[in-house]
Amino acid sequence: MLDLAIIGGGPAGLTAGLYATRGGLKSVTMFEKGVPGGQIMNSSEIENYPGVPEVMSGMDLMAKWPEQCQRFGLKHEMITVTQVTRNSETGIFTIHKEDGTTEDAISVIVGTGSTPKRAGFKGENEFFGKGVSTCATCDGFFYKDKEVTVIGGGDTALEEAVYLAGICSKVYLVHRRDTFRAAPSTVERAKNTPNIEFIVNSTPDEVFGEDFAGVQGIKIKTPEGIRQLDTTGVFIFVGNDVNNGVLKQDDGSFLCDITEWGEVVVNLKMETSIHGLYATGDMRLDAPKQVVVAAGDGSTAAIGAISYVMENK
Ligand code: FAD
Ligand code: NAP
Repeated sequence: MLDLAIIGGGPAGLTAGLYATRGGLKSVTMFEKGVPGGQIMNSSEIENYPGVPEVMSGMDLMAKWPEQCQRFGLKHEMITVTQVTRNSETGIFTIHKEDGTTEDAISVIVGTGSTPKRAGFKGENEFFGKGVSTCATCDGFFYKDKEVTVIGGGDTALEEAVYLAGICSKVYLVHRRDTFRAAPSTVERAKNTPNIEFIVNSTPDEVFGEDFAGVQGIKIKTPEGIRQLDTTGVFIFVGNDVNNGVLKQDDGSFLCDITEWGEVVVNLKMETSIHGLYATGDMRLDAPKQVVVAAGDGSTAAIGAISYVMENK
């Protein structure tokens, strides 16, 4: 039986692995379906990880994280986990893997991340990371004093539009209806921000540019016809899928409490509503969706898991 199973090998899972093994747990396995590193590996530039002043690719930033964990004994099994269950009598967790095998663990830390949805217009995938972004905190600064386009009409789109308006010279907010899903107070705040222009009843048609230079503009379908915005940054906020599938039970319920938006409810120790089960990083309630936060969550959860394993072994 494992002391600790970690599901997901992004910044949250890797940091949990580092702290758990270095903190004395003997048998810790991280189940990661791909190469460890997480979604930041898809980013060509990161410049807000503290202590790393150089602008570097996500792949370079994460390159040494697995090696550091392995030094203290973290094992990595490259496999997809399909489900985590718990025996209500013994409190032992079982990790179900896609090859049909299982593994028992005293404690579990889940860090399977979340996936921003795409809007589905021409050029969106081709220019993702080359001007098309789903993260204002990550990429907003690259458009300092420039114009950007934001797509969406929910809380995220309007809050991020206001955030970007503080950095960029102008924000075009493109929404497919003329009423908003976002809270009225958030809509009001955006409407009172002088450098946000609302373009409603409109949808993105095509983002265009050059392979090397990236995005050069976006064409918008408006009631008056196609309007071209020459913005080199296009931010898409059309919802988010939390990767909480491993917590789903056979009867459709979740192993622990989740919010109506699918985020895992945790306390300040990153413990879920089930003792010994922790959730970290982008998948947990109110996640700021940043590498430094995911890493912090991983360390917090591991410190909690060490105590839990000591008490329950
Ligand atoms: P993830 O990084 O999503 O890792 C989850 C891991 O779990 C993945 O490796 C996945 O393969 C694995 N997994 C999922 N399901 C399973 C399963 N069932 N079984 C096994 N493994 C599974 N943040 C910043 O701080 N600064 C930036 O500049 C920045 N730029 C970004 C640019 C881009 C293009 C993207 C996509 C993200 C960016 N982020 C940035 C956000 C940052 O990448 C995330 O906040 C961070 O990676 C979250 O870490 P995590 O460990 O919670 O999840
Ligand atoms: P969301 O509420 O689902 O909003 C997504 C927005 O994108 C909607 O306006 C939707 O338009 C639009 N959209 C969806 N698909 C599109 C497409 N293909 N093309 C163009 N537009 C598209 O997502 P969210 O804003 O990320 O919020 C998710 C949840 O988190 C919400 O419940 C939200 O309240 C919550 N949240 C809360 C806060 C807060 O309380 N401070 C902050 C952020 C998020 P339609 O409206 O026409 O469907």
